[in-house]
Amino acid sequence: MRYISTRGGVEPITFSQAVMMGLATDGGLLLPEKIPTVDPKDLTAWAKLPFQELALEVMRPFVEPDIPAEDLKGLIDRSYAAFDHPKVTPVITPGNVQIMELFHGPTLAFKDVALQLLGNLFEYLLERDGGQLNILGATSGDTGSSAIYGVRGKAHINIFILHPHKRVSPIQERQMTSVLDDNVHNIAIKGTFDDGQSIVKGLFNDLDFKNKYSLGAVNSINWARILAQVVYYFYAWGQVSKGDSKVKIPFSVPTGNFGDIFAGYVAYRMGLPISRLILATNRNDILSRFAKTGTYEAGTVRPTMSPSMDIQVASNFERYLYYLLDEDSALLSEKMQGFAETGTLEVSAEKKAEVDQLITGCAVSEEETLEQIRTTFTETGYVLDPHTAVGVRAARDEPTAVCLATAHPAKFSEAVKKATGKEPELPAALADLMDRPTRVALLDAQQETIKAHMISTLD
Ligand SMILES: *Cc1c(COP(=O)(O)O)cnc(C)c1O
Repeated sequence: MRYISTRGGVEPITFSQAVMMGLATDGGLLLPEKIPTVDPKDLTAWAKLPFQELALEVMRPFVEPDIPAEDLKGLIDRSYAAFDHPKVTPVITPGNVQIMELFHGPTLAFKDVALQLLGNLFEYLLERDGGQLNILGATSGDTGSSAIYGVRGKAHINIFILHPHKRVSPIQERQMTSVLDDNVHNIAIKGTFDDGQSIVKGLFNDLDFKNKYSLGAVNSINWARILAQVVYYFYAWGQVSKGDSKVKIPFSVPTGNFGDIFAGYVAYRMGLPISRLILATNRNDILSRFAKTGTYEAGTVRPTMSPSMDIQVASNFERYLYYLLDEDSALLSEKMQGFAETGTLEVSAEKKAEVDQLITGCAVSEEETLEQIRTTFTETGYVLDPHTAVGVRAARDEPTAVCLATAHPAKFSEAVKKATGKEPELPAALADLMDRPTRVALLDAQQETIKAHMISTLD
């Protein structure tokens, strides 16, 4: 499989090149030249496979011949060995809701599903093709620890993650700073998340520094992350339908950067019988508004109890738009250019009707989120995290929907306690988390300070 850019400015490249490139060099996003389709007979056969074997079948056509199947198998097996559930992403049914638990990875968040694989892929490609990678990122709490766990202890890779000192939750802080591998470098900055982001941006723009030290990112636009997430849609479908290819399933997806739901869209285009994708947002509703009106219009971010979905612009949305606009790169580039200038983008009535055939947008308020956590808990004893609760609430009128559970409730204990009156417990493997030793550098929120620290660490 070869990869192209949504903006049409990249000559077809291999899967490996797409993984290492991240963002396309023409400013667009990378996509496979053609989405492979799956025969209904294969769907039925795949419904019986364990997660790892299914992952191999789903990912193979996207990766071959660049990475041979036996190597891919090794990467998959290693990536999901770190999950604490034998099914990796089990579907469970507390009461009459269906929940797909995506939080059995090492940091209790669904991002582990993608970042465990991405870390192994980076290591494999650097080992095979040579080179090194110094990952740099800023986090407001959640993604940082998933990224750190994805690459801890890996050869040829260092990771530097900036977080705002004392402005992330104690659990989040400890999850990052208790990783003591030599290649993991936590930096607490005396400033805000925005300071961290602007320092990172500045360092990526310092091209001499970036090139000399092979700086790279692990953001949500990497194609390999999307690919890893396509797998669990197939897995959920297999568990629920038992392989009957006539059974169509709706999915409800708590959405931020449109990565997770876009993976569902890829599964749909591959031929997975998905009847509907419910695009669930919190009150930062740019995407649910788009699904309702056909207009994509940036607003200001308002903090919520589901912070991993507090976004203003959804970085993966461009991929969906590319397909919606019939893979017309010129038109897409024009639309994105217009959006950059005016903050608004609109699709035609005909295209809006096409969106409606598959996607339903729903924004969920803070009160509704709390109410959903409370109701589900009272009726079934099952504890939802606030992100998952947004998706469950949005699926109220779709009783057969599979709702994606994107975080373990213990990661967002404050909201959960507010709703249920009870503090959720950390899983046994993390029970001692708050007692673990830590390593972190506390530094001023100055670009030059961070740069000097990175140079002295790496040289
Ligand atoms: C990142 C994240 C989301 C949103 O996923 P996207 O792929 O950005 O749409 C939802 N819930 C949790 C817990 C997350 O960490």
